[in-house]
Amino acid sequence: YLTFDHLTKSVISANEKWKLLKETERLQAELAHMAMYDALTETLSRRALLEQLEIEMQRSKRHNRKLTLLMADIDLFKRVNDTYGHIAGDAVIREIAKTLKSNTRRSDYVGRYGGEEFLILLPETPIGKALLLANKLREQTALLRVHSEKITLGQVTISLGAAAFEKDSSLEQFIDRVDQGLYLAKEGGRNKVVRGPSLKK
Ligand code: GH3
Ligand code: MG
Ligand code: MG
Repeated sequence: YLTFDHLTKSVISANEKWKLLKETERLQAELAHMAMYDALTETLSRRALLEQLEIEMQRSKRHNRKLTLLMADIDLFKRVNDTYGHIAGDAVIREIAKTLKSNTRRSDYVGRYGGEEFLILLPETPIGKALLLANKLREQTALLRVHSEKITLGQVTISLGAAAFEKDSSLEQFIDRVDQGLYLAKEGGRNKVVRGPSLKK
């Protein structure tokens, strides 16, 4: 029969189980967050970006909606790391991410595509408006003064490529076109915005 001791033990074990369940839930939420957001900048992860891009491309195709993509890459970033160190470099990446976030809409998608590269996905946005935004992002970044460990870094700039989604284009082709724009912006002297070429048939 049940003694007080038994009862105490089962209450303790029920409590332990509940705590374990809560801890599992917390870990699951943390994992989901880690998959969705980049740890350094808290903007979207590469994976989340590509998933969203796929969804928006489908929407654009089906409902005939405008969709533009921007790719931003920090200019001569190796020099920032070499001059000020990796910690300061990370601070630059974080501040630029913040600038991109704060100058775009909640309905836009900003994420870290690679080390010092960002993708900005702009649903319902014609290329003309996207180019204006890209130039604003470029100008706001050039105005930033990043502080790290009691020093203020020199000016940092970004170059951007832009491309409007064209029907029948694959995800790879879409990204490749915006990447070509970015390449031309670098070649043209950096701190620039260039529209990538059209899809070749
Ligand atoms: P460009 O204007 O042509 O883009 O020149 P760049 O120096 O920015 O380009 P490059 O691709 O040669 O160098 C990018 C550097 O970014 C190399 C790498 O060490 C640095 N980097 C990449 N990811 C991170 C990061 O998370 N933190 C820091 N501090 N540096 C990073
Ligand atoms: Mg790069
Ligand atoms: Mg770079």
